[in-house]
Amino acid sequence: MKLDLDQFPPPAHDHGDCIRSALDAAQLRCERHGARLTDLRRRVLELVWTSHEPVGAYALLDTLKSEGHAAAPPTVYRALDFLIDQGLVHRLERLNAFVGCPRPESSHSAHFLICTDCGRALEMLDNPALDAALQNAADASGFTVSRRTIEVEGLCPDCRRKNEETSAAG
Ligand SMILES: [Zn+2]
Ligand SMILES: [Zn+2]
Ligand SMILES: [Zn+2]
Repeated sequence: MKLDLDQFPPPAHDHGDCIRSALDAAQLRCERHGARLTDLRRRVLELVWTSHEPVGAYALLDTLKSEGHAAAPPTVYRALDFLIDQGLVHRLERLNAFVGCPRPESSHSAHFLICTDCGRALEMLDNPALDAALQNAADASGFTVSRRTIEVEGLCPDCRRKNEETSAAG
């Protein structure tokens, strides 16, 4: 089953599929750009994709250490920088956490819907109107944009439903 990238994935989806296609896309992208997806970079990417929840650098570090990697924070940050440069991972500023990009082959601004209940983040892809509106607003202020990130917090449909059921059962 192909997931709809514009929707929060159903809780019961085959997440192994998400991970596999992310790793395949990463391999392809790195080959095309002559970038080296080393074992560590690949493992860090895989760990970022553990779930649809953004993950912090120190959680990554802990997992790598538990796997016997002699990874120090700079090593992990360098691997993350590489993955970000390649468009494979986005950094969520407010959470200071990292999330995998489902469409690394196209360069784009990082816009996210973040659920404050389950912690999942959904990247808003294909929003040319949003980009255009931001660009126009910046132009009108004579502002040159170097980077655009939107992080919107709220409830995902699954958590909203859960909340509604809880309050109905009240
Ligand atoms: Zn998934
Ligand atoms: Zn992305
Ligand atoms: Zn949620």
